[in-house]
Amino acid sequence: MSTPASAAKKWIGLPRPWVISGPCSAETEAQVMATAQALAHSGKVHLFRAGIWKPRTKPGGFEGVGAVGLEWLKQARQQYGLPFTVEVATAKQVEEALKFETDVLWIGARTTVNPFSVQELADALQGVNIPVLIKNPLNPDIELWTGALERIAGAGIEKIGLIHRGFSNYGHSEYRNVPMWHLAIEMKLRHPQIPLLNDPSHICGRRDLLMEVMQRAVDLDFDGLMIESHPEPEKAWSDANQQVTPERLLEMLAAIRWRAEDIHSDSFHTALDALRQQINQLDQEMVQLLGRRMQVAEEIGRYKKENNITILQTSRWQEIVERACAQGEQVGLSREFITRYLEAVHMESINRQKNVLDS
Ligand code: PEP
Ligand code: MN
Repeated sequence: MSTPASAAKKWIGLPRPWVISGPCSAETEAQVMATAQALAHSGKVHLFRAGIWKPRTKPGGFEGVGAVGLEWLKQARQQYGLPFTVEVATAKQVEEALKFETDVLWIGARTTVNPFSVQELADALQGVNIPVLIKNPLNPDIELWTGALERIAGAGIEKIGLIHRGFSNYGHSEYRNVPMWHLAIEMKLRHPQIPLLNDPSHICGRRDLLMEVMQRAVDLDFDGLMIESHPEPEKAWSDANQQVTPERLLEMLAAIRWRAEDIHSDSFHTALDALRQQINQLDQEMVQLLGRRMQVAEEIGRYKKENNITILQTSRWQEIVERACAQGEQVGLSREFITRYLEAVHMESINRQKNVLDS
């Protein structure tokens, strides 16, 4: 691939799994120091995170402590030897973060979504040698995520990582941000040289789901995790429902079933296993989608019944096949395969509608 993103290489010497943790927001000096101390002491966490400029949905809430937080983070690094990362969204914030020798920058989901903002960051980073982690955009658009990657790589940044934090969703879901794992897998396949981390905290939005999502990420061969931790999670000034104490974080890390240390140097079977996990995940999502498709078909059946319309409408069917074949062609699926697949789906759909009409 000739995109600038391909310039970014898999980081050499990156611990695996790479664990990043710390509070959603830096709140007080004491809170930053206490969290950093507990995390550093464990030896299981490699990078300390804390938001100091917080993007909030509505005005009037806690918007972060600002640059004073950088002082605390620097002090924590001095005292406990834990390098740190902060979120940056503007050129000014990049400048401040660099002044305090921040080790790694991260770009939040609300920034990745906006090419103007990402370009502003890329311009501010021109000629700077600092690793940058890019969260997925709020919406499930991997071209936008890739675009951000290309803009940052285009600024000459060599160490780039991706963070999968889920996607916003309208309507009910058990997750705060739905994971849509297939999109993260697609990014991983497109950019195998770039480390991919998972952020279970923002996917879950609640503590009780964290473990399951962390395990899923590990099974899908993610390179690391970014998880929020706070000495008193219930009292956190932001994202209180999803944070855990450093102690709980360590318990969870210990409970995860890690796969073989290094997949690249391990046996063929381990690599195969990781790919099979991806297939399982994709199949599971396809079955879910098919189930949903059939529900919609039944809904249409009810409508047809009320309005006395026939089940089969040839022109509509041809339109569906044509559209799917054209789309299939773009992703390398043959017309023959798409037609056979759609015929099976269509038969099932017709049976469902027939049942509705007969009822
Ligand atoms: C955060 O990490 O605290 C944060 C604001 O995350 P996101 O950009 O994923 O919403
Ligand atoms: Mn947060």
